[in-house]
Amino acid sequence: MKPRILLLASAMLAGATLLGSPASAAAGKPLWVVATLSTFGDLVRTVGGDHVDVAVIASPKFNPHFIEPKPSDVLKMRRADLLVHAGLDLEAWRGPLLDAAGNVKVGPGQPGELDLSQGIALLEVPQGAVSRAQGDIHLYGNPHYWLNPDNALIMAMAIAAKLSDLDPANAQDYAVRMQAWTQQLSQRIEAWRQQARALQGKEVVAYHNEWPYLLHFLGLKGEEFLEPKPGIPPTPKQLAFLQQYMTERRITAIIQPSYVPTQAGEALAKRTGATLLTLCQGVGELPTCSDTLQMLDYDITQLSQALHPTS
Ligand SMILES: [Zn+2]
Repeated sequence: MKPRILLLASAMLAGATLLGSPASAAAGKPLWVVATLSTFGDLVRTVGGDHVDVAVIASPKFNPHFIEPKPSDVLKMRRADLLVHAGLDLEAWRGPLLDAAGNVKVGPGQPGELDLSQGIALLEVPQGAVSRAQGDIHLYGNPHYWLNPDNALIMAMAIAAKLSDLDPANAQDYAVRMQAWTQQLSQRIEAWRQQARALQGKEVVAYHNEWPYLLHFLGLKGEEFLEPKPGIPPTPKQLAFLQQYMTERRITAIIQPSYVPTQAGEALAKRTGATLLTLCQGVGELPTCSDTLQMLDYDITQLSQALHPTS
């Protein structure tokens, strides 16, 4: 990916005069925020309102691990006052994109960087030495932490603090917007916990291991996956194993995002009688997931209905 990105960078530098000087957080101008993922972008818009312009790099309709940034993404990154990202090894493409953009103020450790994994209680952090042989990705713990309502609050608070640091003139607005959204989230969390009561201890099988934070919130288990290792596509051997595993444990739901093929999940559902659910792993992935609260609501309702049909 890197050489392609560097080529893009050269093209961008050649055309840089069209852009004028890099954007700055000049008084009265919105902060230009680049979010790697749509859910982060949604939270920045929620907290930032009119004081931010937000660009998202990775469409939620694609696997966030394997995005190929476009020339327009290099341009977005060059202008950024703030980069909001997942950290860990989720976005393997982020480093090359940053290099191509050459915008030091949003680089690692700079005031214009916000790594949202900071402050999150990570799940599945490997103990001892790790290597790519254990799977292509998830070397530093599971990086899909945004799919948990409690973590959404932690992320939004981190965003509010960062926006206030970069733009202290509007700190009061950020605090007010944050408070309003926190109230909405708290009400939803109460309702979701009610829905989760009937689900305690039930188990699902997932395509990729990207739901542990949501499952943890709901008291559900998800320990086996269509991917034999993170990032490795399903194999006949893995599907045969899962057929037996699901039958023995009477597992009735398979979950996956919209961006993976459905054939393996459909075949397994047919063999086991389970329901295959397409859930949202990112804001905007499906029309019913147009913001963070709607996304969580959709996923939790889908799981509730599949696992406890009488609720
Ligand atoms: Zn992953």
